[in-house]
Amino acid sequence: MASQVVLVTGASRGIGAATALLAAERGYAVGVNYRRDAEAAGAVVQRITAAGGRAIALQADVANEQDVVAMFRRLDETLGPVTALVNNAGKLETQMRVDAMDAARIGRILAANVTGTLLCCREAVRRMSTRRGGSGGAIVNVSSVAAKTGSPEEYVDYAASKGAVDTLTVGLAQEVAQEGIRVNAVRPGFIHTDMHADGGEPGRVDRVKAFVPLRRGGLPEEVARAILWLLSDEASYSTGTFVDVAGGR
Ligand code: NAP
Repeated sequence: MASQVVLVTGASRGIGAATALLAAERGYAVGVNYRRDAEAAGAVVQRITAAGGRAIALQADVANEQDVVAMFRRLDETLGPVTALVNNAGKLETQMRVDAMDAARIGRILAANVTGTLLCCREAVRRMSTRRGGSGGAIVNVSSVAAKTGSPEEYVDYAASKGAVDTLTVGLAQEVAQEGIRVNAVRPGFIHTDMHADGGEPGRVDRVKAFVPLRRGGLPEEVARAILWLLSDEASYSTGTFVDVAGGR
């Protein structure tokens, strides 16, 4: 069994895939969670194992409690109990104003981004907590600068869900601080991934980069490096805090 086991949710593409690959390079055995795209998750696993690392693909919708429970059990039985969790899975939907949204859409966003993050935190804490016989661990939640800006005219529902992620990061960090677990978050800005196409604007990052002090969008790998730092012992005195990876925005 590898001593360090990380579960990265939503690791079939984008920031999650970059995080899974970097974690493997740093010596973690990696659970590569995905929801739908088994082929893409399999490709991430293949790249890790081809380089001599250990990884498995884990299908689960993080918004579904049974899926999450089964995913953590499968990780226990294969790579070993989780020592690090990256709550990266997240979604947004087509850009629209709040006055056009319906409850079904709002529910989908909150279920994936908030309920999903909380459920994965719960399963990780049950395994990591020294109060429950675990050896401690680290959790990094992937929030967004949208938690601060609110994403007007685009997706206020998504931004609000990331505000909830920020709040739960602070609360959980304090709840488990005496149990060997650190909980932090990264807040990416405009990052070049396929997520913007889901919002209906694949070229969004190039449209808005003029408003970013560094005058460019970020790369998934730049977010992954911040995540890996927060997971590592280099960040041993940081908990309940945030690293913005947003080009100065
Ligand atoms: P992405 O390219 O759209 O990838 C999202 C990943 O999450 C995919 O692997 C997807 O899997 C998975 N996923 C979505 N819903 C899921 C669910 N319910 N259960 C399990 N997996 C699920 O996104 P990204 O841009 O890399 O974003 C990753 C995280 O960073 C998200 O939390 C996002 O909110 C945050 N973020 C991104 C940006 C940005 O500019 N890109 C900025 C700020 C924050 P399938 O494809 O298999 O469904």
